[in-house]
This record gives sequence, C-alpha cells and structure tokens, in this order.
Amino acid sequence: IPVERIRNFSIIAHVDHGKSTLADRLLEFTGAVKKGSGKNQILDKLQVERERGITVKAQSVSLLYKCKDEMYLLNLIDTPGHVDFSNEVSRSLSACQGVILLVDANDGVQAQTVANFYLAFEKDLVIIPVLNKIDLKNANPQRVCNQLKNLFDIDQEEVLKISAKIGLGVDNVLQAIINKIPAPNVNRNSTFRALLYDSWFDQYRGALALVYVASGYIEVGNKITLFHSKNVYDVKSLSILRPEEYSVSRLAAGQVGVIGCNMRSSKEAVIGDTIHKLGENIEPLEGFQATRPMVFAGVYPIDQSQQQNLRTAIEKLALNDSAVTVSNDFSPALGQGWRLGFLGLLHLEVFTQRLEQEYGADSIITAPSVPYKILLKSTKQTLKSGRELYITNPIHFPEPFEVEEYYEPMVIGTIITPDEYLGPIMSLCIEKRGIQKSATNIDNNRLILQYDLPLSEIVMDFHDILKTITSGYATFDYEDNGYCKSNLVKLNILLNGKEVEELCNIVHVTKASTIGKKMCSRLKEIIPRQLIQINIQAIVNGKVVGRETLKAFRKDVTAKLYGGDVTRRMKLLAQQAEGKRKMKMVANISLPRDTFIEVLKKQ
Ligand code: GDP
Ligand code: MG
Repeated sequence: IPVERIRNFSIIAHVDHGKSTLADRLLEFTGAVKKGSGKNQILDKLQVERERGITVKAQSVSLLYKCKDEMYLLNLIDTPGHVDFSNEVSRSLSACQGVILLVDANDGVQAQTVANFYLAFEKDLVIIPVLNKIDLKNANPQRVCNQLKNLFDIDQEEVLKISAKIGLGVDNVLQAIINKIPAPNVNRNSTFRALLYDSWFDQYRGALALVYVASGYIEVGNKITLFHSKNVYDVKSLSILRPEEYSVSRLAAGQVGVIGCNMRSSKEAVIGDTIHKLGENIEPLEGFQATRPMVFAGVYPIDQSQQQNLRTAIEKLALNDSAVTVSNDFSPALGQGWRLGFLGLLHLEVFTQRLEQEYGADSIITAPSVPYKILLKSTKQTLKSGRELYITNPIHFPEPFEVEEYYEPMVIGTIITPDEYLGPIMSLCIEKRGIQKSATNIDNNRLILQYDLPLSEIVMDFHDILKTITSGYATFDYEDNGYCKSNLVKLNILLNGKEVEELCNIVHVTKASTIGKKMCSRLKEIIPRQLIQINIQAIVNGKVVGRETLKAFRKDVTAKLYGGDVTRRMKLLAQQAEGKRKMKMVANISLPRDTFIEVLKKQ
C-alpha cells in the first residue's frame, strides 16, 4: 500500500470514556475481527488492563479499509490513557499524524482528556474530536461541545457524535480519519530509521520491538543496531498486527510493525531508541528520553521461604516492563526483599497486581516513597563523590549538619470537578501543601483547577480522598514538574528508647508532628500488649513530637497471697520489676513481624 494511503492515528481519552470499545468497533468495521465474535476489548491483552479498564502496554493494530475503491492501511496505535505513562503516550504519538479525542457525552471533559489533548497538541497532530455514548439518556452533547470550545477552542461543527457501544457513527470516524489526517510524510528511498516505541517479551523469540518506520525500509535478514545501546542484531522476523501477528517480508516508511531479532530482554529494547541498519550513519529520531522512576516501594515475600518464587516473578515481570527499576533491599524486620522504582502510583499498582495475578506471588508492598534530592555541604569527601544525592530509602537520609539544601519532587495537578466541591478540594490541597495556580470554569457548573503539589503528598491517599470528598465526581491527573527546594526532616520512631530503623520516614518539617503522632497511636493499636510497658516515641532532630505508652499486662504475682506478709509481697514485686527490666532490653526485637507489616504496607 502506497504511503499516500496510510493513516497513523491514536485514540486518546479519559479512562472509561470508551477507547477500547471504539477500538473494537473499528476492528469489526474493517473486518479485522468478525462482528459479534463476542470478543471485547481485543487490544487489552493483560488481565489487569481488562479489570481496571486501563491500557498499560501500547498495543497497535493495522486495519485495511476500502474507501471509494481504494484500499487504505489504518494503523491504530493504542496509548496508555493514564499520565503515569505520559512518556509512553508521548512516544506512541510520535508515530501518529492524528488522534481521535474521545469524550464521554455524559461525563464531559475530564482530567486525562486535558492532559492527553495537550500531549497531542504539542506534537502538532490533527485532532478529531468525537463524543461517545450519545445513546445514553443522560448524554448532553451540547454541554460537552461547549466545554471543548472553552478549553480547546474546538468548533462544534467539527465534533462527531457516536455510540461506540451500538456502533452508531463509527463509519464517520473512519471517514474523518481518511479525510482529515494526513498520510505520513516519509521517504521510503532514504536510509532506514525506526522509532522503537514499545516492546514485550516472547518466550521463544525474546523481546519483540514495536516500531514506527520513519524512513527507508527493512527486510528480514538485515543487520540492525540501536542508536543509543549500540547492540547489533539480525532481523529474524517482521510482522504487522491485524490484530494477530501477520508476517511480512518488508516494513517500509510510514508503517507500524514488529521486529523480532532475538533480543534477550526488554531492557535491550530501549523504548524511544532509534533502530537503523548496521554501518549507516543516521541522525537519531526524537523521542529518546530516559524514564526516571518517581515512586519507590519495597517488596518483600510474606515469608522468607517464598523468596525465590518472588524473585523469579519480579524478574519475569521486569523483563516486560523496561520502566521499572529493581534493586536488592534488606530490612531487619522483613528480611531480604527488593526496592522497586515506578513511573507513578498507577504503575506501582499495576505492577504489584500483575505480580499477584500472573505469577501468584504473595508479597508485602511497603508504603510508597519518592526520591528526594539533597545538596551536601562541600567537604573533602564531596569533592570526590559529588554533592548531589538522591535518597529513595529514608535509612540513607544524611545528618542535618551535612546538608546544605533539601529538594523534593513536585507535580502539576489538574482537577476537574463540579463547582459545588470547590471548598473541600481547596482544603484538601492546602493540607497537602498545594499551591493553586488557576481555577477556570469550563462550563456553568464545572471547574478546572491547577495546583502545584509535592509528589510525596499525592502518592499516599490524595486520589482516594479526592474521590471521597467529591462523591467520585472529581477527576485528577498530574505531571512531573521537577524538583523544588524544601525543608525536610527525618522522623524516627523509638520503642523504649531504641530506634526502629524500618519505621523511619522522611517528612516535610510542617508535617513531622502530625505524622509522628499518628504513627505513635497507630503503633499503640497494633503492637500486642506485652509483659513490659512499651514507650513509643516519634523523634525529629532529637525532639519528641509524639508519644504513646502501651501498658504492660500486669501479672499480679501477689494475687494469691491474701494478707501475706509485707516483706514477701515486696520481694515478689521487686522480682517482677527485675523481670520487666530484662524484657525491656529485648522488647524491640520481640515485636512480631506482623506489626511491621501492618505499619509499613500500603493501606
Ligand atoms: P476505556 O477505558 O476508554 O477503554 O473505556 P471502555 O471502552 O472500556 O468503556 C468503558 C465503559 O463504557 C464500558 O462499560 C463500555 O461498555 C461503556 N461504553 C463504551 N462506549 C459506550 C457507548 O457508546 N455507549 C454506552 N452506553 N456505553 C459505552
Ligand atoms: Mg480501555
């Protein structure tokens, strides 16, 4: 098929607005799958994707569509809808010349609609606005059209109205794709360059690379290399996805397809890298941006006998997900485990859910933390090792006297909400140290709010609280906004005067006392009462910011000695006190493992 009859596009939408359903319909309309085959969400291959209704891996499908007696090749490049994966969205969009901006005609524009719109807009892609679910009786297309006009300056006449569920208007979408989106502007006669934008692991063929061919062509048997990693491979197989793999002998510029070349792991298939033929000098394609994990969590086996199983499961899963980082970790309480780095919260949840579902690995996931940046005072040591330090584990937090400045990661949060919830949302954002950037009406009773927020404040429970206080109506999305100077301290927890390393925490100075008090009362609740009294303290820079006392069970040694003589009574009491003192010394380690699990795990 000549380049002029290729269209590369993507569907972008807020979660649940019908992206997968529309993709299914497009597959049916073009005959890629049989109508009424009973298969749904064909592109969502992973169980977690189906359950959560989100796309994790960018899939892609090539559709053949006949229009006015000409055959067109339509490449639907699926993008993850959530902004955790905004790098992936952005990369997938690099392979497109246009997007379908799909909006639920009932829900209207939501936070991810806005985020995704701008990703497409910045790339100068043709945007086809489509309202979905017009079959719903609460659908209000007029109102959503107004929102699109207010927010994105999209004219009402441009907006298509469809129902992906019942298949209404889908042919118009196909027409618009052909008529409005330009063919890729490529040269098939120049040197071969392809953008690697996703990869997955095949047991028999190693990591497969999903690519967009930007120039030239490639054939089975060619020798290829990656611009950044420099590894060299033989092309063993080429295919397009329809949606099953369909072998081809050549992939040419403008096309999207899969290269099999025996890469051993997804780590070798560096996403965003440029593939070219060995020996040819090329300019790399844009799109290479190393992803940096922003949310870290410890993962430990429920009991140490399952260590090997968990290790295997993590390794397998990481093989398929080049964005996750894995390092060994050890906790005196939880034993040997791993510290994993993720792009964001959803990424963490998806990964751990897959760990459980696909590999049956039972594990403890610790509460997530963010990477803090520290500028050390200059000393002889820092002359050698550098003054900048990233801390992902609170145990490694330096002493205050060593530190010149602290920095913490920030995000720009976008919230879309009915205006009646403005008050509670503002209180929540203030409590989370947010600074409001803007508040704009998108129609007569809906607002879009933008906040500068510290990432650490949203990784725990921000989204859940937001949903609760707005009865589920507000939507939230965030994007990375670099580091900002901050005032951080280490919060230590002491049990009977002894520091418990695994319970320490890095917190903002204004939060230290509240969090310290909360941890103490929580520990008081969950530590089982013992024969000795346990003093629980939260300490910041040597100052006590919270304390609780867990009273001992009193084994009343004198109970049986009705009216017994005083000296004997005194002696027994003294003995008991002695016993207590001995116990105290071991109190710190007699804590059951469950206690730590309770405190450390994600709620
Ligand atoms: P995604 O998260 O954007 O991929 O959304 P899905 O395609 O999974 O759809 C989310 C929900 O909306 C599913 O329950 C669909 O059945 C439903 N849905 C999708 N399109 C329509 C539509 O046109 N009309 C109605 N009534 N429901 C739809
Ligand atoms: Mg979906």
